[in-house]
Amino acid sequence: GAMHRLGMAKANNAKIFHASTSEVYGDPTVHPQPESYRGHVNPIGLRACYDEGKRAAETLMFDYHRMHGVDIRVARIFNTYGPRMRPDDGRVVSNFIVQALRNESLTIYGDGSQTRSFCFVDDLVEGLIRLMDSEPEFTGPVNLGNPGEFSMLALADAVIRETDSGSATVFKPLPEDDPMQRRPDISLAQEMLDWRPQVELKEGLARTVTYFRDLI
Ligand code: UDP
Repeated sequence: GAMHRLGMAKANNAKIFHASTSEVYGDPTVHPQPESYRGHVNPIGLRACYDEGKRAAETLMFDYHRMHGVDIRVARIFNTYGPRMRPDDGRVVSNFIVQALRNESLTIYGDGSQTRSFCFVDDLVEGLIRLMDSEPEFTGPVNLGNPGEFSMLALADAVIRETDSGSATVFKPLPEDDPMQRRPDISLAQEMLDWRPQVELKEGLARTVTYFRDLI
């Protein structure tokens, strides 16, 4: 897919955006993760098709840029959430909110000490627009994410508070190769795009809960 899009971008002299991911850092040993960190990915694990697929797509972007001068923009997107996620999306924010609103137990995988940094969708969209409007020399990759870092236990507490739910928590097995920690270093985005997230987790959760209350 990435190669076909690059072929089209080259033929049409178009600017091309690649939605890369924090998953290129795998289970990171450097914390927080700057763009210069090359990552720690298990190439044969359960998540490998996603992680390595995204890494290979970045490689193609930069090869087309070097060989054919294609105007590329690569963002490494960290966990993003907000209204219009699907209730059965399976990711942690939507799972917890839907479970809390239905008074079901919140499913915590592992011991819940693993961390993620959650970016509200509006902040991400603003970052993407700024990236596409930035000077042509700026290819990225650039981290786009909220540096606020939370354990899944803390997220569960925050969701229960925000929904005013009587839900309990239940512990389930941790999926294979689930990263232990994740937090973007956003210095590059601040410097090049004058961007940093504006919506804190509490406010973003409130807006997302409102959406799911109406939906389910
Ligand atoms: N997770 C969880 N309960 C769920 C869904 C996910 O505890 O119902 C955990 C998952 O194991 C991971 C974290 O929440 O450690 C974020 O998972 P998600 O799939 O949302 O994003 P990703 O792992 O791709 O960062």
